[in-house]
Amino acid sequence: MSSEDIDVVIVGAGFAGLYMLHSVRGLGMSALVIEAGEGVGGTWYWNRYPGARCDVPSMEYSFGFDDKLQQEWEWTERYATQPEILRYIEHVADRFDLRRDIVLGRRVESATFDDETERWTVRTNDSNEVKCRFVVMATGCLSAANLPEIAGRDSFGGDTYHTGGWPHDGVDFTNQSVAVIGTGSSAVQSIPLIASQAAEVTVFQRTPAYAVPAHNHDLDSSDVAAIKGDYRHWRDVARRSTTGFGGHVERNPVGALDVDEQQRQAEYDRRWEAGGLAFMGAFNDLLLSDESNQTAAEYVRSKIREQVRDPATAEALSPHTVIGCKRMCVDTNYYATFNQPNVKLVDIAQTPIDEITKTGVRVGDRRVDVDAIIFATGFDAMTGAIARIDIRGRGGQRLSDEWAAGPQTYLGLQVAGFPNLFTITGPGSPSVLTNMIVAIEQHVEWISDLMAEMIAAGHDTVEATPSAQQQWVEYVNAVADLTLFGGCSSWYLGANVPGKPRVFMPLPGFPEYKAKCDEVAAAQYEGFVLA
Ligand code: FAD
Ligand code: NAP
Repeated sequence: MSSEDIDVVIVGAGFAGLYMLHSVRGLGMSALVIEAGEGVGGTWYWNRYPGARCDVPSMEYSFGFDDKLQQEWEWTERYATQPEILRYIEHVADRFDLRRDIVLGRRVESATFDDETERWTVRTNDSNEVKCRFVVMATGCLSAANLPEIAGRDSFGGDTYHTGGWPHDGVDFTNQSVAVIGTGSSAVQSIPLIASQAAEVTVFQRTPAYAVPAHNHDLDSSDVAAIKGDYRHWRDVARRSTTGFGGHVERNPVGALDVDEQQRQAEYDRRWEAGGLAFMGAFNDLLLSDESNQTAAEYVRSKIREQVRDPATAEALSPHTVIGCKRMCVDTNYYATFNQPNVKLVDIAQTPIDEITKTGVRVGDRRVDVDAIIFATGFDAMTGAIARIDIRGRGGQRLSDEWAAGPQTYLGLQVAGFPNLFTITGPGSPSVLTNMIVAIEQHVEWISDLMAEMIAAGHDTVEATPSAQQQWVEYVNAVADLTLFGGCSSWYLGANVPGKPRVFMPLPGFPEYKAKCDEVAAAQYEGFVLA
């Protein structure tokens, strides 16, 4: 890092930060990426727990912006493992010669806008600072670990792990008894592998998860060739789909109650057999109608009962909330693992964990002594990484104050009062409700187009207007209110972090959102002031 002025500072070296760097270089601007980790990769650098892999098919969970890149890279499995995705991201960094503008192992602690010079000063934890014109927060939606404040947590005498900060050399649980706290996607992926190694595994479940089968498999070379032969079309279909993926899986255009019971079962069976998140595309109203939603929920519960032999355990593993209002999990042997004699489930829905002791976990009178505790407790999602940076905009106003009652953005891209600061996949954009690579590419390209426009027109600053932001926040809330997303205590709502305001943060509907962004750009960046 040098104290010289540069054009753009990008915080984070995951998919978003790397593509942003590549794009701004294309505009002839100087850029620096600052990354807290000791390597590139973001999510895929940090989340090295056993079983970590994507839940969007690999051929789609990858960059589409460069045809040569997508033609030359060979994915091996339907859902790539974490090491394979990390290798891919490292390949991207090398292929586009990105590393020379990335500093690793430095955490951005503050970003301050100077009203006089209209420059940002970005400071890192090692007291370095850099001045720049633009700041892009590519800090990730799921990068700030949520470590619950359970009494006695730090008194535990054994080893503790968070899935989002897993040791690089792996962990050997042979002959150990292990506690896993949490039953979201990270737990669903890791528990079967941990249970195949450890002597005993006790899973502490606050809310059961809906999981659909992955049916992961090696990719067939002729299928890969067919996709590569038509990759552009595939990517276009993804960009037009509600969830940013599904090049090969159609979304059923009818409601669940528009067909009879037999047809409904047949559709669910077909999707269950196919595996993956496209299960929720079985009918077009599963997140709009309670009654329709219940048919899908009951279907998954029936599948849990088929897989788990002990009826009491099957019932405890069966969610009774709205299906899909929390991120769905994708399962390889998760439910079946509870048939193993070395795996126990402790339901803490009614009686939370009282304390962590020197030797284990206590829930009421029940004490479970363990050698290791795994916190599969997720993230302070969407706003956590940004909130951990002291960001001050015009007149010294703090972003944390502006967002005290929940995040406020215009298009999920900018915040009024914070000129030239952008958020990638920020709250108020489709973000985590989509294949995130599609959402990231759309944001990076939109921001780059805006920067190009500013260079061409000689503008120094761009800033969302308070009224455009206000209208956008109201719009996002109104769209969310049309859906069943508010129906459970999810991280989408901030409900997993005590004290966090409950506001539905992402925006459902990627194609409508993209159309709106394009419309704003075509109308000379309506809702922004370019000065
Ligand atoms: P990240 O990959 O999170 O990168 C952000 C980077 O910013 C991190 O490396 C972090 O260290 C850095 N950073 C943050 N704050 C600072 C700071 N103050 N200073 C310096 N650096 C900082 N999405 C899908 O669409 N499909 C999937 O299958 C999928 N699977 C996932 C599996 C797991 C285990 C997790 C946790 C998430 C998954 N996601 C998935 C979401 C995933 O986060 C995104 O797909 C994508 O990787 C996000 O890329 P990003 O660059 O925006 O953020
Ligand atoms: P998560 O979905 O937020 O799950 C966290 C789990 O920890 C939940 O079961 C939660 O219970 C529990 N928990 C949190 N605090 C607790 C406490 N104090 N006491 C007891 N239990 C507690 O986190 P995640 O599993 O890491 O996944 C986060 C997101 O990352 C996913 O939704 C997904 O988007 C992405 N991801 C994807 C994959 C993939 O398959 N590709 C894998 C991992 C992660 P409650 O539900 O009651 O809050």
